[in-house]
Amino acid sequence: MENANQLRPTAQPSGRPKASGSQTDCTNIIVVGTGPVGIRAARMLKGQNPCHNILVFGEETSAPYNRVQLSLYLYGEISRDALTLPTKTELEDDIEYHFGKKVVAINKEDRLIVDQYGQSYFYDKLILATGSKAVFPAILGNTLTNTFTFRTLEDTDNLLARKKHGHGVYIIGSGPLGIEAAIGMKTRDNRVYLQARNYLLDPSLDRKAQEILGDSLQTAGIYVIEGDNTESILGTDHVIGVELSSGRIIECDTVVFCTGVTANKALADGAELATNKGILVNDVMQTSDPYIYAVGECSEHEGRTYGLVAPGFEQVTAMSTHVAGNALPYTGSNTNIKLKFGSQSSALIGKVTDADCETFVYANRLKGIYRKLFLHNQVLVGYIYIGNWIELAQLQQAYAACTRIKTKSLEQFEQTGVLWDDPKPTHIKDQPEEYIVCLCENVTRGALTKAMESGNRTIDSLCSATNAGVTCGSCKPLLAEMLDAPTQNLVMRHYKSIYWYSILAIALMVATVLLNPIGIGESSQVNWQLEKLWFDNFWKQVSGYSLLLLSLLAAGISIRKRWKKLNVGHLDDWRYVHSIIGVIALVMLMIHTGMRLGHNMNFVLMVVFLSATLTGSLVGVFMARNHHWTDLKLREHRAWWSRVHYTLLWMLPALLSYHILAVYYF
Ligand SMILES: Cc1cc2nc3c(=O)[nH]c(=O)nc-3n(C[C@H](O)[C@H](O)[C@H](O)COP(=O)(O)OP(=O)(O)OC[C@H]3O[C@@H](n4cnc5c(N)ncnc54)[C@H](O)[C@@H]3O)c2cc1C
Repeated sequence: MENANQLRPTAQPSGRPKASGSQTDCTNIIVVGTGPVGIRAARMLKGQNPCHNILVFGEETSAPYNRVQLSLYLYGEISRDALTLPTKTELEDDIEYHFGKKVVAINKEDRLIVDQYGQSYFYDKLILATGSKAVFPAILGNTLTNTFTFRTLEDTDNLLARKKHGHGVYIIGSGPLGIEAAIGMKTRDNRVYLQARNYLLDPSLDRKAQEILGDSLQTAGIYVIEGDNTESILGTDHVIGVELSSGRIIECDTVVFCTGVTANKALADGAELATNKGILVNDVMQTSDPYIYAVGECSEHEGRTYGLVAPGFEQVTAMSTHVAGNALPYTGSNTNIKLKFGSQSSALIGKVTDADCETFVYANRLKGIYRKLFLHNQVLVGYIYIGNWIELAQLQQAYAACTRIKTKSLEQFEQTGVLWDDPKPTHIKDQPEEYIVCLCENVTRGALTKAMESGNRTIDSLCSATNAGVTCGSCKPLLAEMLDAPTQNLVMRHYKSIYWYSILAIALMVATVLLNPIGIGESSQVNWQLEKLWFDNFWKQVSGYSLLLLSLLAAGISIRKRWKKLNVGHLDDWRYVHSIIGVIALVMLMIHTGMRLGHNMNFVLMVVFLSATLTGSLVGVFMARNHHWTDLKLREHRAWWSRVHYTLLWMLPALLSYHILAVYYF
């Protein structure tokens, strides 16, 4: 097998039949593949030289679409139409598209390709942009009905149908695609499991980062299964569950494989081009045949294949300049990963390996924040973050400009997670004109403002006017911020009811503390039967033990959240039940005590009980108010009050035991 390094750029081939066009530099160019990279290649070549005769072949029957944004389509954030890739401008009017036509063979000698119907087409230059296909792992049951991959528009339409009707979704693979599939498949009514064999998102994330990311997924209602492999998929015809290596069975009716991709190189292999993991190319993207180029996910350059779209675009630039007779060699790409996860941002940018780098970490699990900086000679060469970061814009500028970062700032960063004392304005509108909003297409804040001034007042029109957000779409929340438009997000279930139960609990507590205690015969209206509730020994025991039972039940529900083995039902449903039990427990407390605060240890018990319920109610209010999970301030309040709530709860068993002993023995 030929090595990519052995391939050298060659001079432009000549002496072959030319295109049917009359201009001498007009060539017949065939592009195979209608993914984002193939379409970019066709448009760029045509833009460079309008007289090129360009034919594009695509196996998929649909018009070319933006694969990167399939996740947003699965989330329900964009329509099917919004996925369509622009294929033609006026200039590119005569690019000839052949959709639903697979290229099955290449005849290198005569420079012909053959489509699936046996028709041949001549090329001067052939561009292979055949991309990758999803890997279907060899797991028992992988051919059962309702097992899917997540790669194409057709896959996504199938998943959307399951999202409507399925109740349990099990996703195998926890890289970016698996995580986005999990978020996309989550609804109010289903259960989504994400099987993470070794890591979440990327192997370079350390344990702390994994935990923090796992927390945010759990908050989104996704159950992460760690360290337990999928043994087999269960069912005779349809999926009914999966069995894990530990013997645990998970009931589900849909399985999604997000277990990696493999380059589509069968066409190249058939033509005896040099291949390895992908189609081997040199620095101008030529394969072992100088008339044939390979770009995008199907290519392998210097031993590397890329599973991202931006490297493919960079390769297209190198290829098209070489076709035009110039040289702009490709030197490899960064593999930046940005998770499309509502406004809870996570990313790995630049060089994120510890080798040759000094690293600085700030992590706060309570706040759901993880930040790691990679520096070489004090210069920022890469960074990782999970959770929003007020300094992101400034950080991006420091990274792009290779700015040196002061030791003092780094020391402060390790203590507080903040690099600069005076972070620059964080609202996108306050950023300088040259600030890059869309990293994929290099669209600046200034360009967006201009487009807005010329009447583009919706996200869609702003995207099509500037190209921002058309590739990965992760800058769309920023576009929404520029337009003051709302962005869609995951919503907490029962948030209104939880809010009102929490408010009711607070009102009951205020009543218990402020209203006069109920006394014997104080009011003729108080029926003596009712008085028994407060003063009869038997009824006191009934209310006392009911209170104990309710408290245990509420505590049991909190354990459900922390103990993954008990993960039955949706967390939000249990939160709802917890808030109802809290209110009933308070009513029972009022009955049991007659709204008297008591003395000595009873007083302490009453204060601790009321404080625990009050802090629990506050947590309920903050959570319900932050039902889109996007408000960081409310999230912090919730986390702080939760800590106080748990501390108080830990004091209760001892106080309750003392109270029961005191009643029976003293
Ligand atoms: C859900 C999802 C989310 C993603 N999110 C991101 C992201 O946020 N950022 C990012 O950078 N990347 C992302 N990716 C990866 C990104 O989509 C790919 O890197 C990109 O699509 C590669 O483009 P390509 O044109 O090289 O290949 P592809 O998109 O795979 O396109 C290749 C096309 O060629 C066709 N083809 C293959 N063989 C033939 C043949 N013999 N004849 C005719 N046609 C053929 C295929 O049918 C296909 O349509 C995501 C991928 C998925 C599935």
